[in-house]
This record gives sequence, structure tokens and C-alpha cells, in this order.
Amino acid sequence: MGEGLILLTKTGGGLYHPSFMSNPILIDPVAFAREGRTRTGKIAVAELDPRVHDSLADTSGEAEFVLVGSVDRLRRPHLTLTVNVTLNVPCQRCLEAMTETLSTRADVVLFFDQEKLEAAATEDEELDAILAEPEMDVIALIEDEIIMGLPFAPKHEVCGTEALERAKNDKPNPFAVLAKLKKSASE
Ligand SMILES: [Zn+2]
Repeated sequence: MGEGLILLTKTGGGLYHPSFMSNPILIDPVAFAREGRTRTGKIAVAELDPRVHDSLADTSGEAEFVLVGSVDRLRRPHLTLTVNVTLNVPCQRCLEAMTETLSTRADVVLFFDQEKLEAAATEDEELDAILAEPEMDVIALIEDEIIMGLPFAPKHEVCGTEALERAKNDKPNPFAVLAKLKKSASE
């Protein structure tokens, strides 16, 4: 994988821009929903787009997903995506890796035109709506779910002593120093 590709994906920024790292899982979302199809699978975190890796301490682990298509009570095509994944994220206090298990669920209603989508979204603030495309990459949806599901500032409940020592030497962090003082006082 060349540097150029990585740069390109970083400047992308859009919700469903193409992923260069993994083979896409392409579906016709409307047909998938109307036919009530189900798709399950696993994907290595290492194969996800760099925009996911940016928030991680390493790229170990794999994401399990279930995508279920249905038609909702208003007869609109509907997708439910659940993702389960255990990731290593950097602790915002000591910067050492910590394990974070995500279980996310997205319920998305597909619309055929922007006006109807906006009207429905105004009426129902909880509604997750997207415009139906002839082709949709399930991997990109999974990546969005992981990015949105990640905690904003993950921290160990108690950071390791060794990690604290390193964090303190690297750059003074008042919380790390305080935690260390408290620990030595109780010894
Ligand atoms: Zn920590």
C-alpha cells in the first residue's frame, strides 16, 4: 500500500467515500431491504480504512457484523447494521493501549429523494436516513459505525504504574502526577 493512497483517503472525509484498504462488500440496498436479506461476516480491523486506524493504538482484532434488510411500518426500505468489535485505543491519560469493546447498532431508512428525506428527518429527529444509491459498500457503513461508536476520550480506570512513569517523563500531565502521588501515599 503506497503512501499516496493513504493521503488520498485522509483528504476524503465524506461518509461513504471509497475504501482503498479492503475489498468492498457491495449491495443494492433497496433490493436487500425489500427482499429481507441478511448478511453476516467478519473483517480484520487491519483491513479497514486508515480513517478508522487514526483513532486506534494498533490494528489488531476483527469486527463482526450483521446486516438485516426489512421494510418498516411505513413501507420504507430499512437496514439494520450491528457491529461488534474489540479494539485497542490509546488511553488519553497515559497513552498506553487499552481495550475497548464496541457493540453498535444502526437503523437506517432509505429514501429516494432528498426532499422526502429532509421532510421525514424534520418530522422524526431520531431518524437515521440516507439516500438510496444503486450500490452501497457495507464496509464503509461498518467503518462509519466504528468511528461514531468510539469513545471521545477513553481512559483506563487506573493507569499502569509503568505507563504513568513514562507519561510523566514525556510531558507533565497533572492527572498522571496526581494519580501517582495518591498511589504512593497509599503504599
Ligand atoms: Zn491509561
